Amino acid sequence: MNIKNNINNLRQHIPSGCKLIAVSKTNPIEKIKEAYEAGQRMFGENRVQELVPKFDALPKDIEWHMIGHMQTNKVKYIAPFIHLIHSVDSFNVLEEINKQGSKIDRTISCLLQIHIAEEESKFGFSENEVLELLRSDALKKLNHVQIFGLMGMATFTDNLEQVRREFRSLKTFFEKLKNSPLPAKVKMQELSMGMSGDYKIAIEEGSTMVRVGSAIFGERN
Ligand SMILES: *Cc1c(COP(=O)(O)O)cnc(C)c1O
Repeated sequence: MNIKNNINNLRQHIPSGCKLIAVSKTNPIEKIKEAYEAGQRMFGENRVQELVPKFDALPKDIEWHMIGHMQTNKVKYIAPFIHLIHSVDSFNVLEEINKQGSKIDRTISCLLQIHIAEEESKFGFSENEVLELLRSDALKKLNHVQIFGLMGMATFTDNLEQVRREFRSLKTFFEKLKNSPLPAKVKMQELSMGMSGDYKIAIEEGSTMVRVGSAIFGERN
């Protein structure tokens, strides 16, 4: 695997309005350094236990993105440095992020993860739950979180038309929210969708952030 070539190839397929998050989960520090040396500065991890030691070991101009489901008792470890949490999938987690942000007087940027896949196993809000959350008084009280958009994962399937349909419906919801009155702490700017297998479709359907792992670092064990 030539990480540098992989990144440079990917960049040719990613338009300027879309950010590349290199998903480095399960990969060692040395491989992340190779990506860093190729100019990559945004990295994504899905486990707090793995993210914290990587943050400690690597240059501080890296933007770290949390992309995996979080237990509330782990939020405090990433609150001081996390650039964006893509995987806010419940009000409980959002409340905990706010609590940890308030302790250190840091406002933490988040995306709301929407369940768009057919599979039961994927985490996330339904559209109705998001509409309720955005209207709620409870959200107004969270002064140390900012919501910058939505994240979604398509069904794991070879049916690319289905994947496209799921991304399209997320984009439609994103646009609907964007064009409706939102609380001050909510801005619909980022739409995080697309992985190694489907990032091209996601970009065609309006992604602003693709989260790509194996196409950069190779297959994970
Ligand atoms: C692992 C992971 C990715 C990257 O997956 P690849 O198929 O290796 O590109 C993207 N998003 C999330 C939420 C992940 O957990």
